[in-house]
Amino acid sequence: MNKPVLVVHGGAWVVPSEEFDAHKKGLQDALEIGMAILKNNGSALDAVEKAIASMENSGVFDAGIGAVLNDQGDVELDAQIMKSNLEAGAVAAIRNYKNPISIARKVMETTPHSLLVGDGAGEFAKKSGFSKIDMQRMISKKEFDRFSQKKDEGFGTVGAVALDLFGNMCAGTSTGGTRGKLHGRVGDSPLIGAGGYCDFETGGASATGHGESFMKILACKTACDYLKIEKTAQLAAENTIALLERRTSGKGGIILLRKDGDIGIAFNTKNMARGFATNEKTEAMI
Ligand code: ASP
Repeated sequence: MNKPVLVVHGGAWVVPSEEFDAHKKGLQDALEIGMAILKNNGSALDAVEKAIASMENSGVFDAGIGAVLNDQGDVELDAQIMKSNLEAGAVAAIRNYKNPISIARKVMETTPHSLLVGDGAGEFAKKSGFSKIDMQRMISKKEFDRFSQKKDEGFGTVGAVALDLFGNMCAGTSTGGTRGKLHGRVGDSPLIGAGGYCDFETGGASATGHGESFMKILACKTACDYLKIEKTAQLAAENTIALLERRTSGKGGIILLRKDGDIGIAFNTKNMARGFATNEKTEAMI
C-alpha cells in the first residue's frame, strides 16, 4: 500500500496581502476534501477532481466562479485531467459551466477524444447532464472591478496532483486563463504535457503562469522527464522553472509529485498559492 499524497496550487502571481486568508482557506478546503477521499481508499482521480471543483466553486481563484474575463467581458474556461495510465480529457474555451474539471473527466471517460473546445465542449457538457449557468453568475464582483480598472494582476489558476493508496496517480488543472485575453484564446492549462501531465513511470505535474511560455517547453511533461534524472522532485521542479525562464522569460510555477510521493514545488513569481497533504501533515502557503 502506498501513502496518500495530495499537492494543490491556486496560481503563481503577486497575491495581494488582503487576499492571503481567502487563498489559504481555498487551498485548505481543497486539501481536506481530496485527502478525505484518498484516506478512504478513494482514487487519485476522484481526489483531484473534487479538490479542483472545490477551488472552482470558491470564487477565490481564476477558475470556475470568479475566473478572469476575456476582452469581451466573458468567462471562457480551460481544464484538463490526466491519469497515470495516460488516459486524459480536456475542455477549452468553454462558457457557462462552473466545473470544467468535471467536464474534462467526462470527456476522458465517455468519448474517444482528449480535448473538446468552445461550443462543441458546451454541447457535450449539456448532453452529459451538467447544468448550464448564467454568465452573470460566473463573474465575481472582484473580477469585474479588476477588469474595469484594467488591472494586470490576478492569475489564480488551480491545480492538483494526487497519489492514492493503490499507487495510482492523477493530475488536473483548471483556469479562466489570462485577463483580457482574446476571445477564443487557449493557454497551456488544457494542453496535455503543457499545463498538466501524469505518467506512472515518473509522476504528475500541474502548472500555472504565462501559458504561451509554458506551452513552448511542454512544462509538465518536461518536469516529469526531469524526475528520471534528478535526485528529488524539488530539483526537477526547479529545473523546469529555470528552463522556462532561460528559454522563454516566462513567469509562473509548477507542482510536481514523484510516483513515490516525493513533492517538488517551484515558481519564479512573487507568490504561489500552494499546499500539500500527507498522512502526517497538511499545509497551505502563499
Ligand atoms: N496558465 C494559465 C493560462 O495561461 C494562466 C495562469 O496559470 O495563471 O491560461
